[in-house]
Amino acid sequence: MLGRPLSRRRFLAGLAALPFAIQAACSGDDAPGAVTDAPVAKDVASEARAAPPPPPFVVPEGEERRTLMAGTPQETDLYIFGSGKPGNVLMVLGGVHGNEPGGWFGAERLLDSLRPATGAFLVVPYANRLATRDFVRTTPELGDLNRLYPGDPIGLPMARMAYEITETASEFHVNHLIDMHESWAFYNDRPQNGTAFLGQTIGTNVAEPAVTLAQEVIEAVNSRILASREEFFYRNRIGSGNGPPESRRQESSSDQGGIRQAAGGSGVSSSSLGLPRALPGLSVYLVEMGQQQTLERRIALHVEVAEELARRIGILSA
Ligand SMILES: [Zn+2]
Repeated sequence: MLGRPLSRRRFLAGLAALPFAIQAACSGDDAPGAVTDAPVAKDVASEARAAPPPPPFVVPEGEERRTLMAGTPQETDLYIFGSGKPGNVLMVLGGVHGNEPGGWFGAERLLDSLRPATGAFLVVPYANRLATRDFVRTTPELGDLNRLYPGDPIGLPMARMAYEITETASEFHVNHLIDMHESWAFYNDRPQNGTAFLGQTIGTNVAEPAVTLAQEVIEAVNSRILASREEFFYRNRIGSGNGPPESRRQESSSDQGGIRQAAGGSGVSSSSLGLPRALPGLSVYLVEMGQQQTLERRIALHVEVAEELARRIGILSA
């Protein structure tokens, strides 16, 4: 189990922006310069009782690129876009599975289109770089990133990647995470007793605001979709323990097992849907796009889902 506190070694940029953060946090309806919250008491005991809340976390305005697993064959880019203002922080993962290109191209396209109005936006387009290069889901030697959260700094390569993603999410106070995947068939075409068909679904951890937001995103995106086959479904069977057969079936080569494992107890490696165990308060959205659509359409829909969520949490201005 990942211990806390997590590393803050890259926290300097955030600290440098602190005065700006305080300014931004105070620039609401109050008149400039108004002092309304200054502590009055001077003795230590009173000050302890009246300690003001910590300033809100702010990612400095601008862009930064880092490397995850630097110096290894798995090294990959992490892009950080800060608004300089407090707000929600959205992280997007693409390329967790190397044979699901709609996910990584969708994440990559967000690099060009998504700039935060408030809060911050982080993207890892190619989370399993070697798998995307070879166009395979993953390999036994690498491990399956979406079964290994919250990660292990001395484990399989993808366990180490999971650890760095978890660490990054903690450092940047990420509270919404989109994990972009693809599934070979549409959920709407699933047979009554067949295996998982996850295309056009969004699954979340079972907590608010994730559950409500996902359904609002689905409703909004579906209202703009003209072909009924492209419509999304909300999928939430985590922890139910009595779902239909496909939710209990162990996965082998397609996206169908992670949600079940995410229902495990603490300390169990899981899909991204289990990350809130290590990062309380995190909302996770696992988006599965049906590969029976053209690649271009899958990319466009991934972008649309992400941007719709980003608007609803104030990261994109409406
Ligand atoms: Zn996947």
